Amino acid sequence: MIDDLPPLREVVAKHGLMASKALGQNFLFDLNLTARIARAAGPLEGATIVEIGPGPGGLTRALLAEGAGRVIAVERDARCMPALREIEARYPGRLVIVEGDALAADPAQLVREHGLGGPARICANLPYNIATELLARWIEAEPWPSVFDRYVLMFQREVALRIVATPAQRADYGRLAVLCGWRTRARILFDLSPSAFTPPPKVTSSVVELVPNATPAACEPRLLSQVTKAAFGQRRKMLRQSLKSLPFPGLDVGSLLTAAGIEETRRAEEIDIGGFVALAQALADLS
Ligand code: SAM
Repeated sequence: MIDDLPPLREVVAKHGLMASKALGQNFLFDLNLTARIARAAGPLEGATIVEIGPGPGGLTRALLAEGAGRVIAVERDARCMPALREIEARYPGRLVIVEGDALAADPAQLVREHGLGGPARICANLPYNIATELLARWIEAEPWPSVFDRYVLMFQREVALRIVATPAQRADYGRLAVLCGWRTRARILFDLSPSAFTPPPKVTSSVVELVPNATPAACEPRLLSQVTKAAFGQRRKMLRQSLKSLPFPGLDVGSLLTAAGIEETRRAEEIDIGGFVALAQALADLS
């Protein structure tokens, strides 16, 4: 028992929360695991945690029981609201429920509106179908560093490997690794087997920690995103070819590569994060 609320399985049964595949719902009922994830986001005293997709509130309860000052929980599924309101009543003033689409929410703005003024973090068991889209948006956010001092997030393991990859892990190294490696230090904390979830997903999940770099190399996130999209969109082709798909009519790709100090015959997976930043900087000068 972490609180005097009913066990999660009872909550789910009482409110008829049959897991929805379309909403990426794989719930965690194991209190040891939810506590472990919450502690990974610690120390929690005085901290404001933005949680995306609380569902019936397993991780939410762990975050609050482990001492989070306030949790701001963004959930799209209206069916989860009664369960979340029971948690709100158990922890008065410490849970802010935001009913809506996380893709339409600005977590930094939510912290400015509802935060306690102390450290702020995002901690979530993310809906797998929008997880990478959310992460890319958070990492591309301006200004940087944002209000968050850490992100502790659950992904499918295959996505986690793509987040922490370096050029040495060619198959996993791509746009996500460049974005995350540019502005954060990312590492996998631990894995969770499918049997930890209800219903069990097909694959293993991993909890990833991302700690923002205070002073990443200066470049426009939009341009870094465009250059990595173009380069990895045709990852087997040489950059002199793949970068032709950049959406800048009349751009001289040869001059771009020269300005960035990169040979035309290199391929995307051979370019480190510094190389992509140099390309984005050169693109800013040339476009
Ligand atoms: N946090 C709960 C847990 O660990 O048991 C549930 C995690 S489940 C993997 C993902 C949650 O995200 C679900 O509750 C789902 O309804 C919610 N969700 C899916 N799409 C969403 C969206 N666009 N905005 C906000 N929440 C969303």
